[in-house]
Amino acid sequence: MNTNELWQAVLGELELKLSKANFTTWFKNTFILVYENQELVIGVPNTFTKAWLEKKYHRDITNLLQQFTSDRVRNVVYRVEIKTSPMNISISDYSQEISDQTVSDVSFQQPVFSQTFTLPSLPRSYSETPEPSLNQKYAFSNFIVGKQNELAHAAAQAVSMQPGGVYNPLFIYGGVGLGKTHLLQAVGNEIQKRDPQAKILYITCENFTNDFIHAVRTGRGKEFKDIYRNVDVLLIDDIQFITGKEGTQEEFFHTFNALHQNNKQIILSSDRPPKAIPALEQRLSSRFEWGMMTDIGSPDFETRIAILEAKCREKKYLLDGEILHHVATTIQSNVRELEGALNKIIAFHQFKNMIPTVESVKPILTSFQPTKMKKSVTTRQLIHTVALYYDLSIDDLLGKSREKRLAFPRQIIMFLMREEMKCSYPSIGNELGGRDHTTAMHAYDKITNQLTNDERLQHDIETILQRLYVV
Ligand code: ADP
Ligand code: MG
Repeated sequence: MNTNELWQAVLGELELKLSKANFTTWFKNTFILVYENQELVIGVPNTFTKAWLEKKYHRDITNLLQQFTSDRVRNVVYRVEIKTSPMNISISDYSQEISDQTVSDVSFQQPVFSQTFTLPSLPRSYSETPEPSLNQKYAFSNFIVGKQNELAHAAAQAVSMQPGGVYNPLFIYGGVGLGKTHLLQAVGNEIQKRDPQAKILYITCENFTNDFIHAVRTGRGKEFKDIYRNVDVLLIDDIQFITGKEGTQEEFFHTFNALHQNNKQIILSSDRPPKAIPALEQRLSSRFEWGMMTDIGSPDFETRIAILEAKCREKKYLLDGEILHHVATTIQSNVRELEGALNKIIAFHQFKNMIPTVESVKPILTSFQPTKMKKSVTTRQLIHTVALYYDLSIDDLLGKSREKRLAFPRQIIMFLMREEMKCSYPSIGNELGGRDHTTAMHAYDKITNQLTNDERLQHDIETILQRLYVV
C-alpha cells in the first residue's frame, strides 16, 4: 500500500464518521505529502484547514494512520501545499472528485478520467469545484443488479441506448450510498462510448448552483446558457440541493425546457422523489415526473454478497465465504458502507500481513454497527442534520419566528429528540431556543399523528435518520 492508498483508507474511515458537509469541507484536497522517519506530513489547501485539522481532527487522523500502519507513524503534521500537476492524478484530485461521491471507495488504483466535455468558456478557477467529468470506474459492467435496483438499472440502460428517445427525464431517487451516482455516470460513459462526439455533462447540483451564481455575478449569464443548453446529455446529481434556491430553479427550468424540446436527454438523481423536495417549484416538480421515476432501495442479503464478491474480484483480494457472510450480515444499510468495510479489512490485513479470518474481521466491523452509532448522536448533530435537510439555518430554527417553513422542521426535531434520544419535554424546549415544555409535547403528538398517514413525512424522517446514523 503506498501513501496514496493509505490516505484513501483514512479518508474512507473519516467519511463514515463525519457529516458529509464536514467531511467535504475539511478533507477535500488533502493528501499525504511526505512520509519519512515515522513522520507523516499531510498537505492541506489553506491555513484555515490546517488550523482546523490540528484542532479538531488531529487525534482521529493520527489514530487511523497508526492503525493502518501498525503504529509505524509516530508524528503527524500539516502543511499548506496545493497539488497542481495535472499529469499526476493523485489523491488530491481524486479526493476532490470523490468528495461528491464515494470517499470510502479505496479502489487501490488510480482513477481514470474519460475525455469529457468540459466547460469551454467559463473559467473554472473561481470555484474550487471539480471539473465536471465522467469517471470511468462507474460502468454498467461493474454495477450489480438486485431486486432493489433492477428497475433503475434497466431504465438507465434503456436511456443509454437511446438518449432522448425513451424516458426523458429519467429521475432516480434513493438513500445515500445506493448507487445513484454510479448509474448516472454509467449512462454517461456508455453514451460516450457509443458516440465519442456526444457532449455529455455530469455535474452535481451544488456545482451547477455555484456556476450559475458565479455566472450571474460576473455578467456571464449568456455563456452559462450557451453551455448548459447545448449539451446532448445533462446529468445532474443530487438535485434535491436545489431546494429553496429560487434563482437556480428558475434557470434550471429554462435549461430543462431548452434541452427537453430538442430531445436532449436529462437524468437527475435525488435522495427523495420530486414531490418530497421541500421548496421545489411546482413547475419543476411536475417536469421531473414527465419521464420515468424510479427508486433504488437497500440491497438485500444476496445482493450484498454479490457486491462484496465483485469488489473482491476487482481488487484481486480473496476473502472466504464465511467472512463475506459475516460482513453482509453486519452491514445492511448501503453499498458505500459495504465497500468501506471491505477496504478497511483489506488495508488492515495487508498492513499486518495477515490472512483474514472471521475473528480478525469482527473487531474491524464494530464501528459499522448502527446500535453503537446510535448512542453517540447528540442534540447538536440532530439539529444540524435537520437544518441541512430542509436547507435552513440553525439560528433560524432555534429562533423566535413561527413561520411554517421553520415551525414544521422544528417540530420534527422535537419529535426526534423525544423519540430517538428520550429527552424530557422541558429539556427539549430548552434546547430549542428556550421554548415551553408544552410546545414540545404538542409537537411530539402532532408529528406522531401525522406520521400514521403522511408518506412524505415518513420518507423525510427516514432519510433524516439515515443521515444522522449512517452517513
Ligand atoms: P449514491 O450516489 O446513491 O449515494 P454511489 O453511486 O456513490 O451512491 O454508490 C456508492 C458506492 O457504492 C460507489 O462506489 C458505487 O460504485 C458502489 N455501488 C453502489 N451500488 C452498486 C451496485 N449495485 N453494484 C456495484 N457497486 C455499487
Ligand atoms: Mg451520489
